[in-house]
Amino acid sequence: MTADATFLDALRQALGSDAVDIAADSLAYFANDVYRTGGLPLAVIRPASVEALAEAVKLCAGAQVAMVPRGGGASYTDGYIRPEGGHILIDTGALDDIVIDETNAVVTAGAGVTWANLKIALEAKGLRTPFWGPFSGIAATVGGSMSQNTLSHGGTAHGISAQSVIGFDVVLASGEVLTTNACDGMRFYGPDMTGLFTGDCGVFGIKARIRLPLLPVLHHAETVSFAFDSFADYHTGVRKAQLARLDDSHFGLDLALSQGQIARQEGVGARLKIALQVMQKAPDKLKGLATLVKMGLAGEDPMRAGAYMCHFIVEGFDGQDAAHKAKQLRRIVGAHGREIANSVPTFVRSVPFAPLFNILGPGAERWVPIHGVFAHDKAVAFDTAFKALLAARKADMDRLGVWTGTMFSPVGASGFLYEIALYWPDARTPYHLTTLGDEYIAGLKDFPANPAARAYADDLKEAIVSLMQDHGAGHFQIGRAYPYQSRLSPAAKALLGAIKRELDPQGLMNPGALGL
Ligand SMILES: Cc1cc2nc3c(=O)[nH]c(=O)nc-3n(C[C@H](O)[C@H](O)[C@H](O)COP(=O)(O)OP(=O)(O)OC[C@H]3O[C@@H](n4cnc5c(N)ncnc54)[C@H](O)[C@@H]3O)c2cc1C
Repeated sequence: MTADATFLDALRQALGSDAVDIAADSLAYFANDVYRTGGLPLAVIRPASVEALAEAVKLCAGAQVAMVPRGGGASYTDGYIRPEGGHILIDTGALDDIVIDETNAVVTAGAGVTWANLKIALEAKGLRTPFWGPFSGIAATVGGSMSQNTLSHGGTAHGISAQSVIGFDVVLASGEVLTTNACDGMRFYGPDMTGLFTGDCGVFGIKARIRLPLLPVLHHAETVSFAFDSFADYHTGVRKAQLARLDDSHFGLDLALSQGQIARQEGVGARLKIALQVMQKAPDKLKGLATLVKMGLAGEDPMRAGAYMCHFIVEGFDGQDAAHKAKQLRRIVGAHGREIANSVPTFVRSVPFAPLFNILGPGAERWVPIHGVFAHDKAVAFDTAFKALLAARKADMDRLGVWTGTMFSPVGASGFLYEIALYWPDARTPYHLTTLGDEYIAGLKDFPANPAARAYADDLKEAIVSLMQDHGAGHFQIGRAYPYQSRLSPAAKALLGAIKRELDPQGLMNPGALGL
């Protein structure tokens, strides 16, 4: 028997045969994230318990085989893509326990729990977590989001994923399980060891359990949308709204994205279902009807109402509280833009975790987002520079069918996320085919492999990241895609390296991510 065969047999004995997958089509699928194709894993394993995960890690460490954790696989920054292959890909999907401790207001989720499933379990008890998931939460896991920093739902009020965690149980490269919070229910007891593992892209270990704080669900909500004529107006309006922190979450879109991605999600086929959900969710059915009428009258117009649009979801203890916050928001943001129909945020509140149709563009092109988190005083300058970059490249982009749209989110009170969605005509990978399924794919336009457009998109992506860095941007979801080490001071770099060597002396945990 080869060394590989002996090692795989040991994994089968530890985890059960069904939990060790070496089928060619599985390996081909797991070699891709949303954006890129990497090397083939040696096997994909799916441990069903923390003990089984720890055992598998020990076996990998003993055989000196690299380990790469994967949650829902909904990322696009080469975070679980190992170019050289030959690794064990650890699919955390079977670590799906949810334990709700109502007395202490803490939920413990297995790393593989999706945000959509966590929401269902908590909502049944009238509870939620402060940050409650990315738009990809139908697939994205609590473990994956905590490991690469994530934002969206609950983001204005409560910040990013890393701000909604108490502690982790992490399986280290030795197989030992480290609990990061020294005391139950309390994260900040001495130096923040939990924080060390947020955004680590799995290079320090594999999160097995995550403890998150709880809040009551507020059932009363108002949704409000605004249109703006320029990016400067948009930015001023949302900067002030961000500081006021009246909404649970908000997000903005330019015209290209509004008409493309969001319009497709809101397509005719989905409308009846959405309408039903709007009615079911409305605490006051008459008000639900009024919202529907407003959505119906608005038609598709809110998607074309201005160069930029921002959509707010405001929650309150009762209708009056929500209405009061919405009124304040109108006063603050309305000074810089004009109110438009609220069908987009009403839709998002009804369907916060939509199917992953947006892994392809509105014309079924390939898609990759690129983001930077900017200090507010750099946002307009970056926007101007980005538009100049696009103008300089327009002829080539038109020739190759490459185009972009932009989306924006708050990051706490002081950060502004500028996200650029890049589209190009190209063949789909096994990731897209498996995620979307044959039936859905059959209804889409097909594209042949287009190496010229792909190479151009790669190059444009690099140019955008470099422009973002020139404007001082930081990044979430670093994976292998965003520069990180180059931004650290020598002392910070040395500390990071020392921590890595202490936790993973053989360098087997997701090698290459974070530049480690
Ligand atoms: C349609 C769509 C919408 C999206 N919307 C948003 C959004 O609103 N906000 C946002 O921030 N992002 C968004 N994303 C990006 C992405 O889905 C999220 O960031 C999400 O948090 C990724 O979670 P995941 O479980 O899929 O992680 P994966 O993609 O599986 O992994 C991400 C990284 O974490 C590591 N990892 C995974 N699990 C573990 C673990 N248990 N222990 C240690 N390391 C681990 C992986 O190695 C990898 O480096 C979107 C993506 C898509 C496709």
